[in-house]
Amino acid sequence: MGKEPDNLYTIPVKGLSIGKHEYSFLIDNKFFEDFENSQILGASLNVDVELERSETWIKIVSAIHGTLSVECDRCLDELAIPLKTEASLLVRFVKNEDEPEEDDLETITLDPSEAILDLRQFFYDYICLSLPMQMVHEEGKCNPEMIARLENARGEKPVGESGSPFDKLKDLLN
Ligand SMILES: [Zn+2]
Repeated sequence: MGKEPDNLYTIPVKGLSIGKHEYSFLIDNKFFEDFENSQILGASLNVDVELERSETWIKIVSAIHGTLSVECDRCLDELAIPLKTEASLLVRFVKNEDEPEEDDLETITLDPSEAILDLRQFFYDYICLSLPMQMVHEEGKCNPEMIARLENARGEKPVGESGSPFDKLKDLLN
């Protein structure tokens, strides 16, 4: 069970047996519709989740891989970027002060009565974090029309402040 992709991004934790479990999810355009993010236009991502359940905690290691569609910073056309990242999460049912903190692992505490673990926000945060700083097409792959327009616009603008008294002065001198 759990091999079928589902679009709820939840894991039923109540009654989940101790040991390892596997899940897979698909993240598509619809996933991002629920978030107000203008950066991500679409997605086709697979998420493979390995879950380990113990008495007091659940450890989740998920591998996210696929393609994201974003807006190119230079020409504003759609740009497909490959994405491959790993996201881990430790879910504790009770806060145990004696337990050493695992610094490299994001930790949340879940009420033991919760039946479902919702991973939607967790996936979303990790996908956003893994976006590259600069999202532009390869050199020469930008929309040529838009680039020409941008260059024109740049060329037309006078250097310095437009509409300053000096422009008028310049006109007079010319
Ligand atoms: Zn571009």
